Amino acid sequence: MLGGKTALITGSTSGIGLAIAKAFAGQGANIVLNGFGDKGTIETLRAEIANANGVEVRYSAADMTKPAEIAAMVAEAETEFGAVDILVNNAGIQHVAPVDEFPIDKWDAIIAINLSAAFHGIRAALPGMKRKKWGRIISTASAHALVASPFKSAYVTAKHGIAGLTKTVALEVATQGITVNAICPGYVWTPLVEKQIPDTMKARNLTEEQVKRDVILAAQPTKEFVTAEEVASLAVYLASDAARSITGSLLPIDGGWTAA
Ligand code: NAD
Repeated sequence: MLGGKTALITGSTSGIGLAIAKAFAGQGANIVLNGFGDKGTIETLRAEIANANGVEVRYSAADMTKPAEIAAMVAEAETEFGAVDILVNNAGIQHVAPVDEFPIDKWDAIIAINLSAAFHGIRAALPGMKRKKWGRIISTASAHALVASPFKSAYVTAKHGIAGLTKTVALEVATQGITVNAICPGYVWTPLVEKQIPDTMKARNLTEEQVKRDVILAAQPTKEFVTAEEVASLAVYLASDAARSITGSLLPIDGGWTAA
């Protein structure tokens, strides 16, 4: 379905981004992986995805806090593959703390990685999409783009910002064959969720089991984690021609969380 297309997925060395990269490769797209991690592990991943799907897979170590590295990553992908047809703004981090104790460096990093990086990626990739009169911009936002939770001020602010950016860019390019959407997952079991459990235990004075049951899964009426593969399937659909009329949308995939 995506043969001949190139998809650049930020933060795709782990979790949801990795699942999206695998799903796009499974549809025949060439892939640019990005994110942090052990060099050898990333190279193994890169080769596995390429070999399993008969596609080209490159890796960029660009740091999403550095606008110049984001622009260079897009430019390199355009040189190597001829285009970035699909941009997935996915890299993200989390920090959980009361707002009056929130570390300033964590606030700045979350706004940079979870929000500003999407602006820089879109700014760099859009001219190429306009030239081809085809493009897909998909951001992994969050249920926290639609509703808030306490102790996540930076994350909720960044994700609500992604919602605004998505709608604005969608309107700017609506007549040019380019769609811009945000996927809003509920809780997906990835390192990002695992790592916030100790801070949530501290912020709410709860045990690990209580955090999982009474904070995390309490938000989801299904009482189950969403899977990264389910999120990836939605991204594949949004990238397809069948989804060409979906633009400027914030699509929950949250086990009913935001229905409540
Ligand atoms: P993860 O920790 O498994 O993956 C995060 C990825 O981002 C990794 O590849 C990491 O290396 C990369 N990354 C972090 N900082 C970076 C930087 N400065 N430059 C480049 N790459 C960087 O987390 P995940 O749960 O897969 O999260 C992916 C996205 O999904 C995030 O935007 C997150 O907010 C969003 N999300 C996650 C959940 C969830 O429950 N896990 C729910 C809703 C939305």
